[in-house]
Amino acid sequence: MKTYLVTGGAGFIGSNFVLYMLKKHGDIRIVNVDLLTYAGNLENLKSVKDDPRHVFVQADICDREAIKAVFDEYQPDYVINFAAESHVDRSIEDPGAFADTNVMGTVNLLNCAKDAWLVGGEWGDHKFLQVSTDEVYGTLSLDEPDTFFTEETPLSPHSPYSASKASADMFVVAYHDTFGMPINITRCSNNYGPYQFPEKLIPLMINNALQHKPLPVYGDGLNVRDWLFVEDHCKAIDMVATDGVVGEVYNVGGHNERSNIYIVKTVIDEVAKATGDDSINESLITYVTDRAGHDRRYGIAPDKIREDLGWYPETKFEDGIVRTIQWYLANGPWMENVTSGAYRDYYQNMYGKK
Ligand code: NAD
Repeated sequence: MKTYLVTGGAGFIGSNFVLYMLKKHGDIRIVNVDLLTYAGNLENLKSVKDDPRHVFVQADICDREAIKAVFDEYQPDYVINFAAESHVDRSIEDPGAFADTNVMGTVNLLNCAKDAWLVGGEWGDHKFLQVSTDEVYGTLSLDEPDTFFTEETPLSPHSPYSASKASADMFVVAYHDTFGMPINITRCSNNYGPYQFPEKLIPLMINNALQHKPLPVYGDGLNVRDWLFVEDHCKAIDMVATDGVVGEVYNVGGHNERSNIYIVKTVIDEVAKATGDDSINESLITYVTDRAGHDRRYGIAPDKIREDLGWYPETKFEDGIVRTIQWYLANGPWMENVTSGAYRDYYQNMYGKK
């Protein structure tokens, strides 16, 4: 039986990954280490609360003693590092928190993994998988729609968030090159789906639309992101953990590029259709001052993971967005819970009292 140390497993992608893995594999154990920041929510995991294959440990990935104790007690075969500060707007407000968790937290995990796994010069059958982002590559032009990020694209981050993720990636590569640590890095495009905190574009728009609040769109709304349904990302991580060639980076994306304004209009149409409320319409769209340093376009070339590992995205955007909206409609209490307290303060700070 393999043991996965999943960090950040109470967040959006991490909790989807825990649920995906427990459903897909019978004979695994997941040790889920999460600090439960504003973005971590154990509600996401209530369906596996009594599953003995899932152990939850509340801890900071920067805490050397706590992480060492987890390695000592559970002896994980894999580390899947999702834990991060993940929101670009917050990184502009407070870059230091991103350096702490995303860089120093990753280095602490690498050190603890090295101490536990490297015995007599041998690494054994282990792997450290760093969950990274296409944002580390910087930006592409709207004028060259046929250019994409490949694994060879140089790192060129622009936001404090992407700078912290790129820095963490470089440490992970350094532990492979210097110490021989068995690692992989996945760099995925924008995810959407259930359990995403409503500061991110799609759930923010769904939540505001349902409340007839303004839908804030940065700049001209033409920035392009490459959207992937979260389960397809989980599948990719599972495949890379098991079959990825040690030391390799894999880009993950579904060639599903959409402008932000297209996404917002799609959410309006689908929420209006699902609720039968025609007062949810484009009059809610409010253009706001562009994000500082806003990357124009992200686009992933997923050829390597498709050709080498046979991964492909199963969910078409048109289906995934409807599933996502239906999920938020059916889980009103989840949304009410996360939009109270700390989230509300943050929301007021970022978007005013609209
Ligand atoms: P999220 O913000 O929803 O979740 C992050 C989780 O990490 C939360 O549960 C939080 O409590 C936990 N956490 C934060 N600081 C911690 C610390 N110091 N110690 C332990 N736990 C801590 O983020 P997400 O959107 O699920 O992203 C997960 C990972 O995937 C991140 O590394 C992110 O960079 C990467 N990623 C995200 C996307 C996306 O579209 N969301 C795309 C590509 C890559």
